[in-house]
Amino acid sequence: MIRFENLTKIYRGIRAVDDLNLQIPQGTIFGFIGPNGAGKTTTIKMMAGVLRPTRGRIYINGLDIAKQPSEAKRIIGFIPDRPFLYEKLSGIEFLRFKAGLYGMKGDRLGEKILDLLDLFELSYWADELIESYSHGMKQRLIMAAAIIHEPKVIIVDEPMVGLDPKGAKLVKEIFKELAREGATVFMSTHTLALAQEICQQIAIVDKGKIVASGTSEDLEKQAGVRGDLERIFLKITGGLAST
Ligand code: ATP
Repeated sequence: MIRFENLTKIYRGIRAVDDLNLQIPQGTIFGFIGPNGAGKTTTIKMMAGVLRPTRGRIYINGLDIAKQPSEAKRIIGFIPDRPFLYEKLSGIEFLRFKAGLYGMKGDRLGEKILDLLDLFELSYWADELIESYSHGMKQRLIMAAAIIHEPKVIIVDEPMVGLDPKGAKLVKEIFKELAREGATVFMSTHTLALAQEICQQIAIVDKGKIVASGTSEDLEKQAGVRGDLERIFLKITGGLAST
């Protein structure tokens, strides 16, 4: 479960995130969409404990990110929009390094790493240096690393950038499976077709505020238009003049 209470971030007078209140049940794939500059990345950075809110609170499975950052981070898997990789490590070394940060070790870890490499279709390149990986392979490795500690909440900023259609399909299936197993996936994306396809709930943010939220049907009602998410999005954010 993810909960925002009056979440606000002000950068030198700019209200990047403005008094967000939200509750997302466990096991939900949640889409966070909005125009450029709406405050999506700022919100995600606060959820991951990278940025401190100006005001308000974020609870991850009941843990207050500001008060219990270590405990909260143990149950979060964060996939940033511009991830950092140690290019001189191999894929398998990077996963071992990441597991080490969570204090994971032992025989089962080796098995877990091989399973993850297999799941993300990286087994063949496991011992190659990351610097030789394609963009899509790096993206899949980042995702594998982000879920190595079996997080309860996965926070992902623009998951599909750089993935080819096969990679994107694979990642969608993995997100769905993680949610079926009870994880919550919070994703920000500009790919509205992706949000429409896999998210059970969506919030549209604009100028730091949630301007509509709920299921696709809820959003249709709030927008007063029927149709796909693109049409709803444009209506709500002012890009669609008339219905
Ligand atoms: P995009 O879709 O373009 O990635 P976004 O929805 O992720 O946008 P943010 O990057 O969170 O939006 O930015 C929200 C607002 O905060 C924008 O007005 C942006 O200019 C401002 N902003 C973001 N980071 C900073 C910063 N470090 N200092 C000052 N202002 C910032």
